[in-house]
Amino acid sequence: MPESKPPGTETFVSVLLPLAVEGAYSYLAGENLGALARDELARGDFVRVPLGTREYVGVVWDADAPRPDIAPAKLRSIKTHLDVPPLPSAQLDFLDVLARYNLAQAGMVLRMMLPVEEALYPAAPRKGVQLGSVSADNLPKGFRLTGARERVLAVAEGGLGWNKTVLASEAGVSAGVIDGLISAGMLEDIDLPVGTNVLAPDPAHHKVDLTSAQEIAAAKLRTAIGNGYSATLIDGVTGSGKTEVYFEAIATALEAGQQALVLLPEIALTAQFLNRFEKRFGVKPTEWHSDLTPATRRDIWRNVHRGEVRVVVGARSALFLPFDNLGLIIVDEEHDPAYKQVDRVSYHARDMAVLRGFLGKFPIVLASATPSIETQVNVDRGKYAIVHLPSRFGGQSFPDIRLIDLRENPPERGQWIAPPLVDAMTEVLAAGRQSLLFLNRRGYAPLTLCRKCGHRFVCPDCSSWLVAHRFRKQLQCHHCGLTIPEPRICPSCDHEDTLVACGPGVERIMEEVTQRFPDARTVILSSDLVGSAADMREKFEGIAKGAFDIIVGTQLIAKGHHFPNLNLVGVIDADLGLGHGDLRASERTFQLLHQVVGRAGRESEPGIGYLQTHMTEHPVMQALAAGDGDGFYAQEISARERTAMPPFGRLAGLLVTGRERYQVEDQARRLAATAPHQDGVRVLGPAEAPIGMVRGRHRFRLLVKAQLDFDLQNYLRRWFAVSGPMRGGVRLSVDIDPQSFL
Ligand code: ADP
Ligand code: ZN
Repeated sequence: MPESKPPGTETFVSVLLPLAVEGAYSYLAGENLGALARDELARGDFVRVPLGTREYVGVVWDADAPRPDIAPAKLRSIKTHLDVPPLPSAQLDFLDVLARYNLAQAGMVLRMMLPVEEALYPAAPRKGVQLGSVSADNLPKGFRLTGARERVLAVAEGGLGWNKTVLASEAGVSAGVIDGLISAGMLEDIDLPVGTNVLAPDPAHHKVDLTSAQEIAAAKLRTAIGNGYSATLIDGVTGSGKTEVYFEAIATALEAGQQALVLLPEIALTAQFLNRFEKRFGVKPTEWHSDLTPATRRDIWRNVHRGEVRVVVGARSALFLPFDNLGLIIVDEEHDPAYKQVDRVSYHARDMAVLRGFLGKFPIVLASATPSIETQVNVDRGKYAIVHLPSRFGGQSFPDIRLIDLRENPPERGQWIAPPLVDAMTEVLAAGRQSLLFLNRRGYAPLTLCRKCGHRFVCPDCSSWLVAHRFRKQLQCHHCGLTIPEPRICPSCDHEDTLVACGPGVERIMEEVTQRFPDARTVILSSDLVGSAADMREKFEGIAKGAFDIIVGTQLIAKGHHFPNLNLVGVIDADLGLGHGDLRASERTFQLLHQVVGRAGRESEPGIGYLQTHMTEHPVMQALAAGDGDGFYAQEISARERTAMPPFGRLAGLLVTGRERYQVEDQARRLAATAPHQDGVRVLGPAEAPIGMVRGRHRFRLLVKAQLDFDLQNYLRRWFAVSGPMRGGVRLSVDIDPQSFL
């Protein structure tokens, strides 16, 4: 705490604002705060400050900052010191390091940490009810105690105050019953105490008997809790019990009074997860993702900040919640590309979770059946610990994988399912079991063209074909979302009915399925076809219960779900991800296909996976067919090492975009020309990006490749200081550890 200063001495305070700015602004701790409050201002405190003609909420970055270069007369004063606990210091350190590592503006990172400003003001009291003064002995005339009313009273007895809706649903009655009881005086309205509405998970609620391999793994994770920073990979095939095992680590963290965070790559995964969590801990964890209402976000933010929410399960943005007492982060499916965000603030949530654990001095658990090469190498280097779960719970083996060589066994003209796969599906259907066909492409067809004049439907704003969506009768650009009604006349040659769909999307596969198997019960799963989260949940539950025989889906279906009756997985185009030739094409393809096939044979009978490919000799196909994951990883790792690619070297992607192509190219060249020459780093490009235009902005790329021990961020900062800002509406965005090169 700073020492008391004599009156009249200025205290300079730097305050970080949630705006697109690099650093904190200087303020005076004004007289209006009072001498006491001024001295009490501390790093992390929330304050209101003026900027220009507006006022903003910001966070005290330095409560006793050095005198700034501005005349004190020009400095403005802090207006208010908000009456909320400060942003925890580990979270502030996280903000600082994250911004510097990713070359992001600290203010924009703060903005991610303050998604709802109302969370900082006192909560309005909530209305609720409690048992009233009228009891069964002194009922008003004509008022009868029906069964429904009795149930409500019985439930209400158990608590001090109840939210009406919760009480009604617990008692299984309508809201009207509650209102009736209030008019009769048997219940009365009250203000509920703030912040007591989060039920705490119970670590002892339902303990599971672990197998011996699981127990060994769990024991290792339990010891890590409360013992400072560590990172541990749970490496185990799908269905081996990784979730059960990390639940044990969560239980230990809860017993130690800590908060825990579970990151999942997709919200689509959370429904099943929430139920399993509830079974183990008695209550659902708190969910955090971008689809919540502002009021829910406000409440969660507040309750996490106060330490009342104990376990959060969320998308990557949950890392920015103001955990007060975080003691564990789990990153499930740690290899998943969805953990990478490329935006105003670009970051990789898995790597940032590890950073958060390091700064907060607590353990990180990564779980995957197909770890990222980065994580595997960190294990090999001894930076991460590893625990193995070698077999599926219940002893089922991983599905056999067979390759279908499309050169030898092509599907019939205009069809996409090759004969061997059709045969296998027929058998599975006859046996009363389920098949899943996987194609990672939404819509009906990726391209529509005119058979008369060759006209192709492309997006006017993106270098991209328009994808046909037959169910919606539209063509859509998957980059910018532009949609047009399905055309009947070629806009180029005016002929009618000459337009043909080229290539398959999931809708087209479904069309083929219904033609071939007219009696099968089918369902299609694709992010643009499932409506609400509830709709999606219903479909997944239907599949798990065996309400469908054939499932067609995109990667929405690939992850996490448990379908006991699924025996066969057919991959329509196993080569799809290998086309770009990007650094991680093989790795990603291996992970995705392994994961999709892993949906099969999780209970009772062993499953089978069929991969339709034109490249049976490709190392990925060979490794999958031989079940040789170890061999594949060894090969992939040595290839990265040979080429000094990540994680044996460092990369940064620079993307220059703008409306005028010549300007973008010009400034990208100018940028490249100003790159400082230095040992250990090379700047490649500029070159037009593989996707040359998105949303009307032309794109040029540079790639910075450096040795592992090279301070890439420092180099980039020095470079950009020399090159100066982009001009004329051209933008530069920086992506450290890029995952996409498109
Ligand atoms: P993973 O996360 O590795 O895919 P899960 O933890 O989801 O594996 O486990 C797969 C299935 O096996 C789940 O239905 C889970 O409840 C069950 N299971 C795993 N381990 C046990 C156990 N020790 N006792 C009972 N059920 C288990
Ligand atoms: Zn577009």
